[in-house]
Amino acid sequence: MKKILLIATGGTIASRKTGDGLAPSLTPQELLDRVPGVRDFCRVDTVQAMNLDSTNIAPEDWLTLGGIIEANYPAYDGFVLCHGTDTMAYTAAALSYLIQNTDKPIVLTGSQKPIDQEDTDARTNLTDSLRFATQGPSGVCIVFEGHVIAGTRAHKIRSKSYNAFSSINFPDLANLRDGRVVRYIPCPAPEGPPRFFHRLSRRVMLLKLIPGMPAEAFAAAGQLCDGLIIESYGVGGIPDVYLDQLDRLVRAGKTVIMATQVRQEGSDLSVYQVGHRLKERYGLLETYDMTLEATVTKLMWVLGQSRDPEVIHRLFLGPVNFDLLF
Ligand code: ASP
Repeated sequence: MKKILLIATGGTIASRKTGDGLAPSLTPQELLDRVPGVRDFCRVDTVQAMNLDSTNIAPEDWLTLGGIIEANYPAYDGFVLCHGTDTMAYTAAALSYLIQNTDKPIVLTGSQKPIDQEDTDARTNLTDSLRFATQGPSGVCIVFEGHVIAGTRAHKIRSKSYNAFSSINFPDLANLRDGRVVRYIPCPAPEGPPRFFHRLSRRVMLLKLIPGMPAEAFAAAGQLCDGLIIESYGVGGIPDVYLDQLDRLVRAGKTVIMATQVRQEGSDLSVYQVGHRLKERYGLLETYDMTLEATVTKLMWVLGQSRDPEVIHRLFLGPVNFDLLF
């Protein structure tokens, strides 16, 4: 029987009502006790990595989770992480960069309702995740409401309904229905042994453009970061009034990446003059079809590895766990 390590981090799935709202309190063993049927198909050990509402999750926690998986990698066939849904897409993307070439499934799940609530989605999601983790390689992924989504492609699209996550610009890897797994995208054979990374830069910022935003916002953001993601409009571009500010950031050695506020289909700076000039002048990086969660965590990973512009370009544009098709 396959051996799975269940790693609990908190989230709604492990929450109970308190006088001032839901707060995580259940242990991973208590979560496991709510799904006794999984004993039919796997053996599970548990570890409590942290017990947080995922609003509080930070890059240090991603490194902690990567470290727990690395330390236990030889002893288990797969890993299931219970996590709050609010930042689950960031954690799934971060782990996709921190753990590459994995030949063992690393599955994140959670729920919209606490596991002890009668109409909860938690028991199905946890059972599905443990089952999927016994089914061979899948890379880092999210299992939620029957969808199996690559760790770099997930986005939380609903704050309350059970079908909370969608796979952006990429199909589901697989679906689960009544315990049956239907795979759509085969997991590529790993090129060599698993690679664990141990550094992330926290000096990454996101600047979301709104019409009329003061130009000084660029300099303010630039002071706080080495890598700035500009979430612009449509296929991407910069309003004329910000060109000077952008020029200063690039000359100061900041890595600037153009992203778009449009969820589906991604950026293409080459289309309009407002974007084309940035490519011509600075060779600016853009996100293409990557999600924002993947872009943020990939930039943290890239800047954690190197400050050399050539290496930054190569790593950022190198596909990892299905994050980038262009
Ligand atoms: N606030 C909760 C969390 O992210 C929401 C959830 O788990 O669904 O921890």
